[in-house]
Amino acid sequence: MDLNCNEIIEKLDSGEIKIHQIEKYAENANQATDIRRKFIENKTNTTLEHIGKYSIDMTETAKKNIENQIGTIQVPVGVVGPVKINTENDEVIETYAPMATTEGALLASVNRGCSVIRRSNGCSVAILKNQMTRAPVIKTKNVHEANKIKTWIEEHFNEIKEVAESTTNHGKLIKIDPIVIVGRFVYPRFVYETGDSMGMNMVTIATQEAMNFIENENDIHMIALSSNFCVDKKPSALNMIEGRGKSIVAEVTVPKEVVEKTLKTTPEAVVEVNYAKNLIGSAIAGSYGYNAHFANMVAAIFLACGQDPAHVVEGSIGITSAENVDGDLYFSVTIPDLPVATVGGGTRLETATESLNIMNVKGSGNVNKFASIVASLVLAGELSLAGALAAGHLARAHKELGR
Ligand code: NAP
Repeated sequence: MDLNCNEIIEKLDSGEIKIHQIEKYAENANQATDIRRKFIENKTNTTLEHIGKYSIDMTETAKKNIENQIGTIQVPVGVVGPVKINTENDEVIETYAPMATTEGALLASVNRGCSVIRRSNGCSVAILKNQMTRAPVIKTKNVHEANKIKTWIEEHFNEIKEVAESTTNHGKLIKIDPIVIVGRFVYPRFVYETGDSMGMNMVTIATQEAMNFIENENDIHMIALSSNFCVDKKPSALNMIEGRGKSIVAEVTVPKEVVEKTLKTTPEAVVEVNYAKNLIGSAIAGSYGYNAHFANMVAAIFLACGQDPAHVVEGSIGITSAENVDGDLYFSVTIPDLPVATVGGGTRLETATESLNIMNVKGSGNVNKFASIVASLVLAGELSLAGALAAGHLARAHKELGR
């Protein structure tokens, strides 16, 4: 059926064509995007002028990133830095970093933290773990069968690994652990290395293949490929302890004079703020975030760099520590659950590519460098906020920059 734009909109109005079917009738995904937006404008009596202005290729986003598209949103993006990082391989990274937000004062604060880190001769970053997880739930006949399948999975790990890895060139199944039994349900947590990708699609496909094999060999039934024991996009003690994505620590020792000159406070005051707020305050609240605002930095760099924004909830968990060491300030952030990528997902968007290029981390071989930069920005943001609270500056900065 050859229809022009107005005819497609008429058929959308009459219900003959559904909004998800426009691509079938339009010349390409870009035109389908414009038609869908026009239809929504008519239906809702709105003007979507700014949503309709974009330069990214919507034919590409339609393939893998979004359905029912009508345009793009624009979020202001700025830069902070340079931030200086000393890696475990004795390399020094010194880079500006893009952050996208609508929260005034955030970039100013992180930028100040970057300056403190530079004046302290850089921060150190260590990547402790690199793993993505998928945990199905299996139903068995009874608890004896549940225990048997747990043992069978443990004894057949090498075969399961071969089957799972047959679906991917880069994914590696490292372990299936823990395997938890509740009643007659069994929850095996598949743990993979996923190279430079965040890996959720990769491990979902690999785990499905592995589960087909396990089901064929045993009298069991998989209830769901994802059981919530993964744990994807939810805060959890499991991810806090076992890790997910990158588990990463960043630390800096800030000389007393730098604390006084740049943060306008003292190491003792920062240590006390951290103790009373990030540790005790979080404990009272039963929080998984024993930190001031990891989520602020993680969200802003995720938005700029095409990361999955729903994973901010995972990046928000972790612990900030502060100590007075011989009069200087030792300060660290421990981020156990940071799912990041430099290939796949939203990293292919033109704006994300440009943002990743600012840090020279686009594509294969770069994910550890990118994760280290994210961790250093989290450190910078935590340091600056703890300093502002210790100096009693927080309300003033927000009044000046946020209103
Ligand atoms: P993806 O874009 O689906 O896949 C990335 C692919 O890139 C990999 O499968 C891999 O192919 C290939 N690749 C090329 N060079 C690579 C390298 N150096 N390192 C690693 N892989 C490389 O991305 P994904 O990371 O698997 O998944 C991310 C997407 O999943 C995001 O868009 C996210 O929103 C979405 N997501 C999905 C789920 C889910 O349950 N399915 C949940 C949350 C989020 P090979 O596999 O052949 O090696």
